Amino acid sequence: MSDITNRVQRIKARLHELAPDHSVAIMAVTKTRSRVEGIQALNAGVALIGENRVQESLAKWTPKPDAPLHFIGHLQTNKVKYAIRHFDAIDSVDTEKLATTINESLQTMDYSGRFPVMLQVNGGQESSKSGFDPDLDTMRRFLGHAEHWDHLLFTGLMALFPRPADTSLTEIQRIRHLMKETGELWRMCQLEGYPWAPLEDLSMGMTQDYEWAVEAGSTMIRMGSGLFG
Ligand SMILES: *Cc1c(COP(=O)(O)O)cnc(C)c1O
Repeated sequence: MSDITNRVQRIKARLHELAPDHSVAIMAVTKTRSRVEGIQALNAGVALIGENRVQESLAKWTPKPDAPLHFIGHLQTNKVKYAIRHFDAIDSVDTEKLATTINESLQTMDYSGRFPVMLQVNGGQESSKSGFDPDLDTMRRFLGHAEHWDHLLFTGLMALFPRPADTSLTEIQRIRHLMKETGELWRMCQLEGYPWAPLEDLSMGMTQDYEWAVEAGSTMIRMGSGLFG
């Protein structure tokens, strides 16, 4: 068995232990990795592919992979028209302006229906990261008028968190607490019941912190180094 297959199986077993009552999808984050490595991860049972650069993904994933391809990086507005043709979803909508631009581009290409997007949440309110603040008023203000973007379907939240500054217990507890609050925020937003924002998914957790994220309710983890070494 290849290393990638081994790692996917180990992570899947751990996900079953952590969340016996709900399934957690593994997204293989293939930035800087080859197409072949990505396909190995898919064959081993990951559900999705994530990329954070449009150009890199166009080169690697043309033709498309045999699984949903999500964009998870910072999207410049001048790349939107390429992104909506290439990706199956954009998980990193971090400003109203970007939502407006994506919607207008879909309109221009006569896209029928609604294109899946996620709202990016800056879980630790770090100045180095973009995204919406993790509070209910901010979310309500955004999602409450999101029906104006008639080509967007908000399928979830993608949450980013600080890397622990050290391995102390207080630092770990700080991050786990932020994740728990984001999990609660996600459930509150779901309860708003907006038809244009079913928010089925909470994309939360990466190689270092996925166990805490799943305990806090994550339905989708984004794994790079933990799969590919
Ligand atoms: C690179 C990246 C990941 C994966 O990080 P690892 O620590 O390698 O698992 C997850 N999410 C985003 C947005 C990324 O850019």
